[in-house]
Amino acid sequence: MRISIIGSGYVGTTIAACFADLGHEVVNVDIDEEIVSAINSGESPIHEPGLDDLIATHGGDTLTATTAYDDVLDTEITFLALPTPSREDGSIDTSIIEAAAETLGETLQEKIDDHVVVTKSTVIPTTTNETLAPILEAASGKTLGDDLHVAMNPEFLREGTAVEDFLNPDKVVFGTESDTPRETLHAVFEPLIEETSAPVVETGIEEAEMIKYANNGFLAAKVSLINDIGNICKEYGVDAYEVADAIGLDDRISDRFLRSGLGWGGSCFPKDTAAIKFAARQQGYEPSMLDAATEINDRQPDRLLSLLDSHVDVAGKRVAVLGLSFKPGTDDIRNSRAIPVIEGLNERGANVVAYDPVATENMRERFPDIEYADSPEAALDDASAALVVTDWPEIADLDDEFDTMATPVVIDGRHAIDRRDGIVYEGLTW
Ligand code: NAD
Repeated sequence: MRISIIGSGYVGTTIAACFADLGHEVVNVDIDEEIVSAINSGESPIHEPGLDDLIATHGGDTLTATTAYDDVLDTEITFLALPTPSREDGSIDTSIIEAAAETLGETLQEKIDDHVVVTKSTVIPTTTNETLAPILEAASGKTLGDDLHVAMNPEFLREGTAVEDFLNPDKVVFGTESDTPRETLHAVFEPLIEETSAPVVETGIEEAEMIKYANNGFLAAKVSLINDIGNICKEYGVDAYEVADAIGLDDRISDRFLRSGLGWGGSCFPKDTAAIKFAARQQGYEPSMLDAATEINDRQPDRLLSLLDSHVDVAGKRVAVLGLSFKPGTDDIRNSRAIPVIEGLNERGANVVAYDPVATENMRERFPDIEYADSPEAALDDASAALVVTDWPEIADLDDEFDTMATPVVIDGRHAIDRRDGIVYEGLTW
């Protein structure tokens, strides 16, 4: 099939490369010329394990990128994989996806055949039907349900394991309200479903929109609950990881997302919990559980810094921050827990020296004035304390390197480092 994807960021590029690998011809449309030329020359514009290989294999061949919306005209289906960022008040800003829908609609004026437009972005229930569909219909001159169709297909991939997640989904959700978009989505996903036997959930469009928020809200709350329990454990000197290992054996709980520590960040959990809470309040409902999840999450970096304060007065001292991306495997620093940690260190007058294997340049834009080290060893050399923020394998493997510190105080936010003689070790919740 010929498929187009508007937006070539973490989601758009990953699904484009994966669809090409599943045998489709894929056109990726983005406004960023650097992204477009990277894909066409077989290079991944983002750091994501496995993506380089897929783009090297298919880029410039069955996977092409373009800044020209006209290239969607010889495709049957278009996925909108555009940002839906948070506004100051927490609500989602749909202006980018609306603008793209308008341009897509204008482009589709020239298309004689039917076209299916699928919302891949995370959007609040009713956005596809009540905001995007009318824009597409008005701009294209087509008639919804006749030669123009909309659908919602939420995405559950995680940065750091995006390719693996997309190609081995726990579920695929088709939010549709008529046969044409449902059948077209089945045709697109057929090779994936055949290969993986992933369950296909067919729902209405609003249910599909809500499933994505429910998924992320539930997982964010699960992490915050284990962090809450972990904080109580720490007060009693109880190891929260031994506790989590035991409760995770209960299949009603499961052992996934039970690692207490610094909490969640990234482009999805913070934005999505804020957006669904705002939307709930607009409907007159107080989302107390999700409020608590956010509050607990916001507190964890302060708890890490308080543990640091209990060992070292860091004013004027060199402090290593190990890990800057919001999780291992990605260069994405959006809402990374490293940001409040660095802010807290700056407020205390520390000389911050930060290290990350891939996210340094992204963090440099956020904090141009701190020092960035080329290796964890260089960050630790002569430091008075080290804060473990992201559990990259090379950070988790550190051991003798702590011996070069001025004072070997290690405050671990991710249960990454082994406690041993010769270092002053504090785990955030253990
Ligand atoms: P992103 O910021 O990484 O990428 C968006 C891309 O859209 C950028 O390359 C940008 O240049 C491009 N763009 C902006 N305006 C455009 C326009 N008018 N026309 C064409 N291209 C345009 O975003 P993302 O992380 O891929 O997220 C996209 C959506 O998917 C969001 O709604 C997000 O919530 C959702 N989502 C993200 C993830 C994730 O892990 N990142 C997972 C699931 C769902």
